[in-house]
Amino acid sequence: ERTPVTLLGLGAMGTALARAWLAAGHPLTVWNRTPAAASALAAEGARIADTAAEAVAANALVVVCLLDDDSVDAVLEGTDLADTDLVNLTTSTPAQARARAEWARERGARYLDGGIMAVPPMIGAPEAGGYVFYSGSRGLFERHRQTLAVPSGTTYVGEDAGFAALHDVALLSAMYGMFAGAAHAFALIRKEDIDPAALAPLLADWLVAMAPAVHQTADHLRSGDYAQGVVSNLAMQVAGTPTFLTTAEQQGVSPELLSPYFDLMSRRLAVGSGEEGLTGVVDLLVR
Ligand code: NDP
Repeated sequence: ERTPVTLLGLGAMGTALARAWLAAGHPLTVWNRTPAAASALAAEGARIADTAAEAVAANALVVVCLLDDDSVDAVLEGTDLADTDLVNLTTSTPAQARARAEWARERGARYLDGGIMAVPPMIGAPEAGGYVFYSGSRGLFERHRQTLAVPSGTTYVGEDAGFAALHDVALLSAMYGMFAGAAHAFALIRKEDIDPAALAPLLADWLVAMAPAVHQTADHLRSGDYAQGVVSNLAMQVAGTPTFLTTAEQQGVSPELLSPYFDLMSRRLAVGSGEEGLTGVVDLLVR
């Protein structure tokens, strides 16, 4: 017998989650502010609740996937959460997640926060590699682990309800740094007779080859020895930065994405050892 699920919020993500649970045979009760989204799912076997309160009352496991933290307030206000297992997949800040955990506790609910590392097409498609970070009640996570694993992979990152959001933001922040670098690379060739489609696979392979460097950064941060195993040291890399900035200038490309990182490298070189790698930049960022 599959665990019954209540799902509040049928946007792009909520609808994908709903379809995955329905396809796996979980009894599903849904509610959405705009009813049209729910009616579409009725034909696929979902039970439609007329109100959010009715949906919450229907099952012990209640999942919400709404636009933002304010919409969670709007939807759950006036529902009876006593003794529910509340799983919030709405994107929020760590502080919002912690406050929501406390808010849920005051209402007698157990609470698990989630950060979705997937886009809707990756939901219900395990081969796509998407997953959800979970943090908060370990008991809730263990109890519903199998049900939660139906739409996407699950990665539990701790009892602190804010940790899922923090991991989510950390990974996406690194992604934006990568996209910033790729934007600069494409800008460099923009006015040349180089096909962006020829650069793209070279770029993708290079980024993949360089990505494991984060393991060395982690080792450095744990040991405090920022020179351990370093191949390309900071002194050499800082000496190389004029090549990048001059090339950008000559290609008519703004250095605005690259310069802040180079500035941090130079500042670290001024206070640290030239034999280090790039790990010292982390300490300059932490205020
Ligand atoms: P959508 O914009 O498609 O859906 C938003 C949902 O929130 C709808 O169900 C909408 O209801 C509801 N909603 C918004 N405001 C209110 C309100 N004031 N009161 C009640 N309901 C409200 O967003 P997604 O489904 O794509 O995203 C949902 C969550 O998932 C977000 O937190 C998002 O950050 C996260 N996420 C999304 C990803 C994506 O690629 N889509 C990837 C990773 C995370 P209505 O239909 O009535 O407007």
